[in-house]
Amino acid sequence: MTREYLKKATLTAKSDASEVHETVKTILADIENGGDAKALEYAKKFDRYEGNVVLTTKEVEAACALVSDKLKADIQFAHENVKRFAEAQKATVSDVEVEIVPGVMAGQKAIPVDAAGCYVPGGRYSHIASAIMTVTTAKVAGCHHITACSPPRPDIGVNPAIVYAAHISGADKILALGGVQGVAAMTFGLFGLPKANILVGPGNQFVAEAKRILFGRVGIDMIAGPTDSLILADKTADAHIVATDLVSQAEHGYNSPVWLITDNKALAEKVMELVPELINDLPDVNRENAFAAWRDYAEVIVCKDREDMAACSDEYAPEHLTVQAEDLEWWLERLTCYGSLFLGEETTVSYGDKATGTNHVLPTSGAASYTGGLSVHKYMKIVTWQRATRDGSKPVALATARISRLEGMEGHARAADVRLAKYFPNEQFD
Ligand code: NAD
Repeated sequence: MTREYLKKATLTAKSDASEVHETVKTILADIENGGDAKALEYAKKFDRYEGNVVLTTKEVEAACALVSDKLKADIQFAHENVKRFAEAQKATVSDVEVEIVPGVMAGQKAIPVDAAGCYVPGGRYSHIASAIMTVTTAKVAGCHHITACSPPRPDIGVNPAIVYAAHISGADKILALGGVQGVAAMTFGLFGLPKANILVGPGNQFVAEAKRILFGRVGIDMIAGPTDSLILADKTADAHIVATDLVSQAEHGYNSPVWLITDNKALAEKVMELVPELINDLPDVNRENAFAAWRDYAEVIVCKDREDMAACSDEYAPEHLTVQAEDLEWWLERLTCYGSLFLGEETTVSYGDKATGTNHVLPTSGAASYTGGLSVHKYMKIVTWQRATRDGSKPVALATARISRLEGMEGHARAADVRLAKYFPNEQFD
């Protein structure tokens, strides 16, 4: 199958986790031993912040008062949409009760985790939407304690819009701590917080590595690397919109890959001409990020036909996948690997990132080949139960005893024997 690469990445978005591993391990151990005081030391070192860490009700109110009415309405709109979608997802999780054999009942229950720790990134950009995505979803799932934690700016603290978003979404506590110290505080239960049962939310490589190291002790949603996006476009696509969408995702960071796959070389060439112009037109920081991401990580691939485009896309398993092509139903049916799918020019990744209602915490670096993104399900434990009548337990006890003896597990076998002897004293069993 011939695929023509008009642009190939010179770097791949490999995690630099091995380099940051030792740093993060040391910080986590320091904070676990040194507690609140050590976490405060790191807040001072990395974020030059020496203010209060767990926001008081008065501080939350003061921050909310700084947010304009217009922005409040927008945040409320996004929150309602995320809530509606999460509620619809929750409705798909049902308790189960089934009679396996006569007299033997088995069931499943969905139980929300008790305490959720939601990391809201705030280093490079103030990710207001991440507060909405993580906290609202935890609230709908039914978590009892929800902590939102975000990096403070020196002398200012957490961005007031993040505080407002976390507050209206249902955060019980808001923590002015970033990076590893934030993740550690939620996991170890510092500053009087309940210990988190699950840590969710995106973050930079320090946050991701901290989650990786702590996984097992605490649940995590996923390990998210740099954000990535792929656009599938055919001859019907608008080159200017395709180029704008690629740039919009390249601005995430210097190592955020964007990929274009098409069966139309003329479209690809036009997009490649437009992207640098659009990047040049961005504000400084965004331009630097987008420029580096486009130069080092972007790819433009011309495929033979749409079937090959779809196969190629599935190989990338992108976090965000956009289709700007004819016959959207065909694409929806055919594509299998993506974190979230954006069908048609009338929607875009930015909509999903901020306000459509689907979650923006999504699998990156090819993880969409085996998992979806954050949802109410990640905050819920699907647990099972069973009970039996004495008569119903007889065939189960007999099978259990024989299987256990064959396995050499005499203690297991006797747990069955003792019941058979008690419930059926007049019967002989082999
Ligand atoms: P961040 O909040 O993740 O990280 C900031 C923190 O990093 C600081 O508080 C500081 O404590 C820590 N830090 C900085 N330098 C350090 C060092 N040398 N050693 C130890 N700790 C250090 O914010 P960010 O850096 O802007 O990263 C946000 C990330 O989240 C981006 O990669 C972005 O793409 C990603 N993101 C992903 C999604 C998604 O759904 N996949 C959504 C939003 C954001």
